[in-house]
Amino acid sequence: MRHRQMDYAGCVRRFALILLFACSRPTPLPAERASSAGDAASVVTMTDADAPADVPIAVSHDAGTDATAELDPKAPLDAIDLHVDLAWQAHAGHLNLADGARQAGRAQLREGQVGSILASLFVEKAYAMTPAEARREYEGTFADATRIFARDGAGVLGAPLGAAAAGTVRVRVSFEGADGFADDPDAAVAWVKRGACVFALVHSRSNALGGASQETDPARRARGLTAAGRTLAKRLLDAGAILDVSHASDATAADLAQLAEARKVPFVATHSGMRALHDIPRNVDDTLIKRIATSGGVVGVSFYVGHLVRGPQASLDDVVAHLEHLRAVGGTRVMALGSDFEGGIVPPKDAKTIAALPVLAERLRARGWPEGDVRAFFHDNAARVLGRCPSPQ
Ligand SMILES: [Zn+2]
Repeated sequence: MRHRQMDYAGCVRRFALILLFACSRPTPLPAERASSAGDAASVVTMTDADAPADVPIAVSHDAGTDATAELDPKAPLDAIDLHVDLAWQAHAGHLNLADGARQAGRAQLREGQVGSILASLFVEKAYAMTPAEARREYEGTFADATRIFARDGAGVLGAPLGAAAAGTVRVRVSFEGADGFADDPDAAVAWVKRGACVFALVHSRSNALGGASQETDPARRARGLTAAGRTLAKRLLDAGAILDVSHASDATAADLAQLAEARKVPFVATHSGMRALHDIPRNVDDTLIKRIATSGGVVGVSFYVGHLVRGPQASLDDVVAHLEHLRAVGGTRVMALGSDFEGGIVPPKDAKTIAALPVLAERLRARGWPEGDVRAFFHDNAARVLGRCPSPQ
């Protein structure tokens, strides 16, 4: 079924958090999380290259745009990051957007030429809570994020996107773990109406909805969607939301893929590495990459060392290697960014903050990437997919 396309201004009217940028004071990063979390949505205009709403897109190895020769490499990236954990940081009490030492504070976001992020309402250990408890935590996380973005000088829920001045970042909430909706899919649909669009059903542990890739018990890791998970996923698709398979077990990812494919709508992996380069269950394998690409969805490439390499250190070249593998297997339209900054991650040694994005862009150009592919990765593909999100009501 078709859904209303995202209304740029309307989306922001209720949920985008506009961050203006100012000064700074250091705060420590929290201890590293067992995995990453976060999502944020971005709100971007549709382009001529956007795919028709309900038509699956074949894997393409063409350049990201036909107008490559006319693109200006000096134009701001307006990057869309599908996973930055600023909402979680806000609720954890660590967030100071003015902190010059953050992974994705105001200064870093601006230097990184970031235009939009998804910030998930991630709740730690939600699998051990009752759904009602988790739902209260979602509300608390959302409230804290709103309050702290405002406190730090710029968070304005409800400002029209068009009014955002240069140097602002548009933030949209998403879900990484949907434990709170296991007994109440209507509550998830209510969040879609409030502007959330991208939903991952599981996080680090298998829950009432499905199996998780990082579940330590092999039998629990082998689980696919439960009946409750299937019901929720269908309700989310009915509401026009986008399903996220990052963190899902292989069986859960396959189940989610099948549901999206049956509706002929894109699905995504917001923040993952490539399993062919680093063989862990948390990363996406080539089969899944191709399914996501064929659906018209995207895979956001993670900057978390644990997703990139086996050892304790990685570099920007490792990010490039994962990205180029994604491009080779899934084509140029599946490439996206899902850095996982602020998720307690260990970043690459030469890309410690989101300010490194322009350096990555230069690295790709130096490797012969057409400017259209660079733009497809940083902005266009994610914009195409998020452009499907329903307007908030
Ligand atoms: Zn995560």
